[in-house]
Order: sequence, then structure tokens, then C-alpha cells
Amino acid sequence: VVVGNGVAGYTCAARLSRLGVPAVLVGPGPVADRPPLTKRALADGRPRLLADADRLAASSIERLDGVAVAVDLVGRNVTVEMPGGRQTVAADHLVLAPGLDYTPPPVPGLDRAFLNATPAGLVRLAPSLAAGPRRVLVVGAGLIGVETAATLARGGHDVHLVDQTDRPMGRIHEPVPTLAAAALTTLGVRFTGGVGITAVQIDDGSAVVATRDHGELVADLVVAATGGRPPTLPGCAGLSFPARVDEGMRLSGHDGVFVVGDAAVPVHVRYGEIRSPHWDTAVRTAEVAARRIAGDETARFDTVPYWWSDIGPLSLAELGHAGAAVEWGREGAWYVGRDDADLPVAILVVDAPRLVRPARELLAAAQHSTV
Ligand SMILES: Cc1cc2nc3c(=O)[nH]c(=O)nc-3n(C[C@H](O)[C@H](O)[C@H](O)COP(=O)(O)OP(=O)(O)OC[C@H]3O[C@@H](n4cnc5c(N)ncnc54)[C@H](O)[C@@H]3O)c2cc1C
Repeated sequence: VVVGNGVAGYTCAARLSRLGVPAVLVGPGPVADRPPLTKRALADGRPRLLADADRLAASSIERLDGVAVAVDLVGRNVTVEMPGGRQTVAADHLVLAPGLDYTPPPVPGLDRAFLNATPAGLVRLAPSLAAGPRRVLVVGAGLIGVETAATLARGGHDVHLVDQTDRPMGRIHEPVPTLAAAALTTLGVRFTGGVGITAVQIDDGSAVVATRDHGELVADLVVAATGGRPPTLPGCAGLSFPARVDEGMRLSGHDGVFVVGDAAVPVHVRYGEIRSPHWDTAVRTAEVAARRIAGDETARFDTVPYWWSDIGPLSLAELGHAGAAVEWGREGAWYVGRDDADLPVAILVVDAPRLVRPARELLAAAQHSTV
């Protein structure tokens, strides 16, 4: 039984099914992907599905369209709340893939803001954007907020992006914040840093955001892009996310229980624990768990880690693990992060999709020589 119908949960169920292991996929609503929610899906107002009912059926994945309201890690069963009532399913193996919780922080009124980090949130936001160019205040300038601001500006909206930090994508190493800031300026997005929001007043078609040092900010609508926090799973008292797992994605102390995707802290063969949640890591960790469940004890997270970001026309791709780098430098078309033995551990590729593959190959070779 796989709890969570995002990319990790779906990938795990699909891989299990291909390996001949019957899988039940638990989660509310469509099996939808996340990265398009700040890009193409935001531009046209339609979430992108990872799989529809036909595809799930063709893969022999049983679907329980509801929320897990009780997860018993010892007995390995899950109670699911669905429109028709509750159902409890027992599992030989339990895979937890609840992702992150994108609920905004408890600032008065911010809970009424729009949220495009979830498929349901995008569906709620889309009609307001379709009504014509709007003044949009995007709160939060991490990857989600920056991409959202860029896509909305490209769509003709008047976008103001604010954050407590001084720079967009300020938690990522250079030159990412500098490149992101330049791309936003080119697109006409106003960015204000150092903004502490104290209250949000949202009425029909207008919003006033009170701040500590920047007075009142006025907009037609507010989008909260305030990031993901660790989720909670009812019944899993004592288990805090993101959960540490072994190299086979098993939760220690719990037989037959695996954690994958953003909810896990996976162990990479070269880089050790990785705490940066990204799409490709969700896919890879889900595949490792599925292979282990099917009996392949050699399965490990050994592919070169990868994340990407599209900020309007700016395309960023990073291979490897920036957390392992002690120094970054420009090397030809790449920005390369090296460890204290001067080995390449991460490569940032800017606006050059064709250089992603050679970057991956270089890091795979370095991994081969060190692991
Ligand atoms: C808007 C957005 C844009 C992104 N863009 C990029 C990008 O450009 N590049 C990149 O590398 N990464 C990107 N990411 C990160 C990437 O999408 C995530 O790392 C990935 O989706 C994690 O997969 P996951 O399955 O662990 O979690 P999710 O995809 O978030 O799925 C978790 C699922 O679990 C379900 N769930 C939660 N609790 C329960 C419960 N109690 N019962 C049942 N189901 C439950 C949720 O409803 C959800 O469907 C983006 C993320 C977001 C949100």
C-alpha cells in the first residue's frame, strides 16, 4: 500500500506493478504532477496528470481516492477516508509518500490566499487569472514563488514578489540568486526583500497586505508560495518527517515500512544524506523502494542527483549535490562545485539543455572513481 498520490507514490506503484507486485495507491484527487503547477499548468490553468483512471487500470494499480486518516506502522494497515466512507487496507509492505505540506504559515488572513503548489489550489486560482491582467502579490521567493512570478508576468499580469530574505532564491548558492533576480527584472517582476507580513485582508477581488517595514501592499490577488513544511500522517505518532531511511529507503525499527520522495531523507551512495527535495530524487527513491520490495537487495540511490528550474525563459539545471561543494567556479559553460579533494561534486548548467547530459556523465565518472 502506497500512501501519497504524487510523483513518488505513483512512480513506486507503477514500478511495483511492472515488477509483478500488486499495489494500492492512496491519495485524494487526481494523480497529478507538481513542477508544471508553476510553469505550463499555471499558464493555462490545467494541472497535468501523471496517470488517469485508464492508465492506472492498465498498470493494474488499485486506487483509493481519499486521505489516509490512520496509518498503523506496526500492523501495516491504512484507514482511508473516501467520499463513500472509510476503508481499511492491510499491506505486506507500506510505502509512505505524503510529500510536503504547502499550507501557509499562521499569519492572520494568509490562509485565504491562493496557493498554486497543489493541483486543487491551481484549479481554485485559475478562474481569477483568466479574467484578464491582474495585480498579483506573490508571497515567498523560493523556487516555487520565483517560477510562479515569472510565469504570471509572462502571462501579462502585474507581479510583485516579496520575501523575508533579501534576494530571490536566496537560500541557493550563487550564481542562482543573481541569475533569478536578473530574469525577474527582465520579465518586469518587482521584487521586494526584507518583507515581514503581519496580516492579510482579502476581499472579493482585492487584497491588502500589512507589513512590518514596508507599509501596506495592495493587489487584486495574493498567491502564497511560502514553501513546503514536513507533513503529518495521522497515527504515525513519534515519526517525524522528513524521515531518515536506510539505503533501501526502509524506515528503521519498522519492518516492511518504506518512506520515499520529499518525506524522506535518502542516503545517496556518493553524497550520503540528501535533504533537498526535488522531483528526480522523488522518482529515484520511489524506484529504489519498489525494487527492494520486489526482492532486489542491490537497489540503491546511485543515479546522479538532479533538479531543474524554469524562470520564464531562464533554464537552470543542477547535477550532483551542491551541499558537498566547498568551492564553486566557472569552468567553460558550466559552474562547477568541487569538494575539498578538488573533485567535481555538482554542476550548474545555465540555458544549455544540451550540456546536461555531459555534466551528468562527468559526475557519474567522478562517482565511479570514488565509490
Ligand atoms: C509547485 C511545485 C513546483 C516544483 N517544481 C520543481 C522543479 O521545477 N524542479 C524540481 O526538480 N522539482 C520541483 N518541485 C519539487 C517536486 O515536484 C517534488 O520534489 C516532488 O513532487 C515530490 O514528490 P512526492 O511524491 O514526494 O510529493 P508530492 O508530489 O507533493 O505528492 C505527495 C502526495 O501525497 C498526498 N498526501 C499527503 N498526505 C496524505 C494522506 N494523509 N493520505 C493520502 N495522501 C496524502 C498529497 O495529496 C500529494 O498528492 C516542485 C514542487 C512544487 C510543489
